[in-house]
Amino acid sequence: MRTTSERQASLRIGGLTPLTSVDYPGELAAVVYCRGCPWRCPYCHNADLQDPEGPSEPAWPEVLAFLEHRRGLLDAVVFSGGEPTAQQALPAAMAEVRELGFKVGLHTGGPYPERLAQLLPLVDWVGLDIKALPEDYPRVPGVPASGDGAWQGMRVLLDARVDLDVRTPPMPGMDDPAYLDRLSERLAEAGVGCWALQQCREVGEMDSSGRPRRLAESDPDVLNAARRFDRFLLRAA
Ligand code: SF4
Repeated sequence: MRTTSERQASLRIGGLTPLTSVDYPGELAAVVYCRGCPWRCPYCHNADLQDPEGPSEPAWPEVLAFLEHRRGLLDAVVFSGGEPTAQQALPAAMAEVRELGFKVGLHTGGPYPERLAQLLPLVDWVGLDIKALPEDYPRVPGVPASGDGAWQGMRVLLDARVDLDVRTPPMPGMDDPAYLDRLSERLAEAGVGCWALQQCREVGEMDSSGRPRRLAESDPDVLNAARRFDRFLLRAA
């Protein structure tokens, strides 16, 4: 029978940020970038992580050894990606991080809502990307019905009252005032308390569909959307 560490060695990692103060609200954290993602968003910041078969560096045991030496210095470990929930090894890895005394954060797009439900006992905070209204998702990750899964995942997290930030990087064509108004209204109606608008960056094929609109906190439509939430953040690209 394999040991716990041997089982967790199957968590495939594409990078590690040893210290950050911006990836888990209010906490000093390390970020583990997990390999693999079922989606292909044009603005992806970590496209090299989409392939689950890419090199796994560092290996999970090396990450654990690093974290052992950061006990008392870091508050939390964030599993990011790629899409962390694409890997079956994620729950065991989260459990081991908890055993070391760290809080557990998760960055996810929510493509597997049933797996989010299984992770509830293991996570302290989730940053969930809601990329668009559910009916418009095929224009973003390029996968039919992906919006139903993501919005269902948000429902799972809201019903469980997990500490949750919903983040939206609005695509060109989905960043006009009318669209942001409809999206923010639907999110607020669903019960979202914290919404972060993440300025979308310009990349590759997006140039053909228009440049992302520059968003500013002083924009009347952004202000109008912000009023719907207990907490609102506007992040640069
Ligand atoms: S869901 Fe995230 S990791 Fe996956 S392609 Fe989109 S932006 Fe990239």
